[in-house]
Amino acid sequence: MTLDEAIREYQEDGHEVTHVVESVCGGCGGTSFTVQLTEDQAMRRTCLGCGLAEFIGDSDEHWDPDDAEECECTCGGEEFAAALGSSCGPDGEVRWLTVGLRCLKCGLCGVYEDWKIDYLPSGHLVTRA
Ligand SMILES: [Zn+2]
Ligand SMILES: [Zn+2]
Repeated sequence: MTLDEAIREYQEDGHEVTHVVESVCGGCGGTSFTVQLTEDQAMRRTCLGCGLAEFIGDSDEHWDPDDAEECECTCGGEEFAAALGSSCGPDGEVRWLTVGLRCLKCGLCGVYEDWKIDYLPSGHLVTRA
């Protein structure tokens, strides 16, 4: 299963994933990351190539650095490719975000977090992978 498929298959509360965008480092164009996650459903990825840390979706709005933990695959791997799935309504606004990671060590794809978007406008979040 590809990362795209894993994200589209995972549909929380019937929110169909309408867009999947792969995470690409804004600094060097890299696609390998360590990923940090908080209990408050905020995610940040750090590029393995250049060390730049960037937030996924609207995670910068509710980020708590004291609460952040490294995502870890069941194999113990902590390096991932990442992608952001968005569930958009007919109006193009995002209702739900789903973040999937693919372990670079064993290739396992999975959804690590998803959260509701309950404000407008939110269409810009689609590309913030
Ligand atoms: Zn980079
Ligand atoms: Zn793994």
